[in-house]
Amino acid sequence: MEDANGTGRAAMLRELPSIDELLNSQTGLAAVREVGRKRAVSLARTVLEDIRNKIGMNRSIKQRSELIAEISVRLENILENRRRGWITRVINATGVIVHTILGRAPISDNAAEAVLRAAGYCSLEFDFEIGKRGRRGASVEKVLAELTNAEDGLIVNNGAAAALLVLSTFANDGEVIVSRGELVEIGGDFRIPDVLAQSGATLREVGTTNRTKLADYDRAISSQTKAILRVHPSNYRIVGFTDRPDLPELSALAKQNGLILIEDAGSGALVDVSKYGLTNEPVIAELIDNGADLVTFSGDKLLGGIQAGLIVGRGGLIQTLRKHPLYRALRPSKIIYAAIEATLESYALDNATTEVPVMRMLAVDAEELERRSLRVADHIRKGSDAKLDVDVIDGVSAIGGGAGPGIELPTSLISLSHHSISAEGFAAKLREGDPPVILRIENERVLIDLRTVAESEECELTDAVIASA
Ligand SMILES: *Cc1c(COP(=O)(O)O)cnc(C)c1O
Repeated sequence: MEDANGTGRAAMLRELPSIDELLNSQTGLAAVREVGRKRAVSLARTVLEDIRNKIGMNRSIKQRSELIAEISVRLENILENRRRGWITRVINATGVIVHTILGRAPISDNAAEAVLRAAGYCSLEFDFEIGKRGRRGASVEKVLAELTNAEDGLIVNNGAAAALLVLSTFANDGEVIVSRGELVEIGGDFRIPDVLAQSGATLREVGTTNRTKLADYDRAISSQTKAILRVHPSNYRIVGFTDRPDLPELSALAKQNGLILIEDAGSGALVDVSKYGLTNEPVIAELIDNGADLVTFSGDKLLGGIQAGLIVGRGGLIQTLRKHPLYRALRPSKIIYAAIEATLESYALDNATTEVPVMRMLAVDAEELERRSLRVADHIRKGSDAKLDVDVIDGVSAIGGGAGPGIELPTSLISLSHHSISAEGFAAKLREGDPPVILRIENERVLIDLRTVAESEECELTDAVIASA
């Protein structure tokens, strides 16, 4: 036995193709096209090494044709896994609008086009009037200020960077007063006390978790105080016996004492979103009107743009931020300015609820979602050969992204149950499809919420479900 296998093994090893031969096979040529020659050589080497070991362990390979097929399958698998390693488009059927794990806000078509326009040479710092260098992002900052009633605006990489820049610039070596009800942690380790420490400021806590009064702020002011910081609790809510001073009162107190009033609005909204059930989201322009000196918020939460930190407020303060060395490290790329500019333009033209996906998904009504769900459910039922139980039921969608915790938007859900695969197993198949479909599982059923699925994606979604059934 030992001898026979030993001879077989040596013979098999001689049959192994060379790297060149492998790269000239159909799969090999595809690999070169896809990843370039250098990386394809390295992949081919890995595959051949693997197969050599496998032959060494005398497992299952008997003939040259089998050997070649096995090599080809392995190479194809590696390529497939590489493809999956890229950032891939997915269908978000979870109903969570601002889905942090799936890239937060989807950008608008206008923003995507603006990104393409800016991809090559563009007017990022070019002033057409003088034909020379102007201020980077000046046109975007202008629209931002207009939309928020502010004197000026500035854009950095994200909300965390905005808070860090503001506090480092104005509160370094001094004290910042924050209510104990607002010392929050936002997802991904953004913690107010840590950001303050990083910016060189000393935290002066006032009040209690549920109630902080104007007098609490007043008593905490000393010669060391530089600013008062208000933070939107975002992903967390205190209800019941609560109190905090109004912004105008706090603003008057700050002014009397020569302090800067900073509001970290978190998500923030450019238009009133209370009619969609989001009653706790301040409109940025109102914060400015009510006396905040600087307001910071995210570009990819309710605004529905791309990852960015937006800062608006008093002209002199914004100018100081622009000159701080940290700004140079936190300023975004041309791609970001382009996407934010196009998104803001939709708001300026009052087209946000049709053009900006996040706003559209917030505004869509339950009846339309029901009508679409019934239609998609029907297609799935017809295509899936009675392998699925398909129902349309009432449910709720979540906002996500730390906006509106506990707020639920009424929706319709397509509820699927496979006759021979568990809900987990069925969801896994959908996740592995092309494009992958990400959805919820509840009570052993797979749930599809079309709120976060574009109408243009319905056919693909239907096909993906049928193919996985
Ligand atoms: C989300 C959030 C941030 C962080 O913003 P990113 O854009 O995620 O960096 C900061 N503060 C508050 C209150 C937030 O809700």
